[in-house]
Amino acid sequence: MDLNNNQLLKTQNYIDGNWTDGVAKLAVTDPAIGKLVAEIADGSAADAEQAVAAAHAAFPAWSRKTAGERAAVLKRWYQLIVDNREDLARLLTLEQGKPLAEALGEIDYGASFIEWFAEECRRAYGQTIPTHNPGMRLSTIRQPVGVVTCITPWNFPNAMITRKAGPALAAGCTVVVKPASETPLSALALCALGEQAGLPAGTLNVVVGSDSAAIGKVLTQDPRVSKFTFTGSTPVGKLLMAQCASTVKKMSMELGGNAPFIVFDDADIDMAVNACMASKFRNAGQTCVSTNRIYVQESVHDAFVDKLAAAIEKLQAGHGLEEGTTLGPLIFRRAVDRVHGLVEEAVANGAKLRLGGDFLSNGENYYAATLLTDVDDSMRISQEEIFGPLAVVQKFREEEEVIQCANNTPFGLAAYVMSENIHRANRVVEALEYGIVACNAGVFSTTVAPFGGIKESGIGREGGVEGMAEFYETKYCCYGV
Ligand code: NAD
Repeated sequence: MDLNNNQLLKTQNYIDGNWTDGVAKLAVTDPAIGKLVAEIADGSAADAEQAVAAAHAAFPAWSRKTAGERAAVLKRWYQLIVDNREDLARLLTLEQGKPLAEALGEIDYGASFIEWFAEECRRAYGQTIPTHNPGMRLSTIRQPVGVVTCITPWNFPNAMITRKAGPALAAGCTVVVKPASETPLSALALCALGEQAGLPAGTLNVVVGSDSAAIGKVLTQDPRVSKFTFTGSTPVGKLLMAQCASTVKKMSMELGGNAPFIVFDDADIDMAVNACMASKFRNAGQTCVSTNRIYVQESVHDAFVDKLAAAIEKLQAGHGLEEGTTLGPLIFRRAVDRVHGLVEEAVANGAKLRLGGDFLSNGENYYAATLLTDVDDSMRISQEEIFGPLAVVQKFREEEEVIQCANNTPFGLAAYVMSENIHRANRVVEALEYGIVACNAGVFSTTVAPFGGIKESGIGREGGVEGMAEFYETKYCCYGV
């Protein structure tokens, strides 16, 4: 593999500051061409137990450091990530498939969580509370929750780790991560740089393993773990929540979505098309905040669809490392077959295929950028998270009607509203039952704002001051005088 810094290609687990082997090997393949990228130590539940023990042992010393001392280590880590961004992006594209420009964007976005939380941890203020009794003094202090375990998905193999580990380490917690077994290289490369930055042994551990269920049980049930944080699908999230119940762990869940994208007749149509392209086709549609259902008001429907089709036709499928590629592969073949099944079923039920709808000759994991119109909410395609390069459009008449349709889902992660009318925009943004609403924008994720869902899309927030609060306990201190 062609990297400037070969130290970043790690093939062992990282436990207690040591690079360790597993009993077997796990193959990481390039989803674009199916070629083997690396063979990784396949970690077990026993490795996860060791990692939890290491994190537990490292917690007292790390949590007692001053915020400034922890921030200094984290800022070195941030700088090393930035200095190695090209290599980290190449690794990410090789194991995950997204175009290199998007991978570079993810590395920068991922790094920003480490820098921002390194600064934010200096402001973990408590309170002095006006007392209810002259014989007592009341205050609060904020303390790190303890050992934090994380399970992360393959669609953002770098940023979904830093968004959790950044604030956790900054708060004084120690961390064990189980990345998706499809994309462990980005996680291990982050550890290599963390080690170089001076993160003490045991503060950050990564256990890669094909037996997710066994490792997951340790991370959700070990009594030494205080908090579990998960990003992934809603069904797996529900299972892990149940597992966490046995020891009443604090939990954060960043789960699936079913984002509506609403285009009103007063929208700037060119802007709406650009926003829709960014939100729908980034990462080949494999993003939890990806547009899922596009609702367009009757009078602008045809104009919007024509412009959207023209933009989709410009997408260029290819290997993520090839110049000009804007559409990479899906992560594995069964994702392609699933998307194709959704298209076939929708067409059989009356949807019209405007573009795409088929496999591509680039490789078995590629699917054509597809546009369906005349879709309705009774179709499976409108009810499930599509997670592929497939835009589905339907018409609506009235504001009230579209708000009801948009909210009629068990999910509540992100929603999009396109309107130039400020009164309507305010009304609709407030009425949508989602954790995030983007108005006249297709991309909104940032370190400084809280990201997360309501309903079956999750619990808790990542990023911003809310993201930091997830890793503290508030202790009420009452002193008799
Ligand atoms: P997934 O739930 O299949 O896997 C996520 C992680 O859980 C992986 O590391 C996997 O190995 C692990 N896992 C799977 N089964 C497990 C089990 N029984 N016990 C323990 N761990 C287990 O999800 P995915 O397909 O990797 O990711 C896509 C999903 O993630 C989508 O639904 C997407 O919306 C969601 N997602 C959400 C956010 C968010 O912030 N809300 C961000 C990115 C992705």
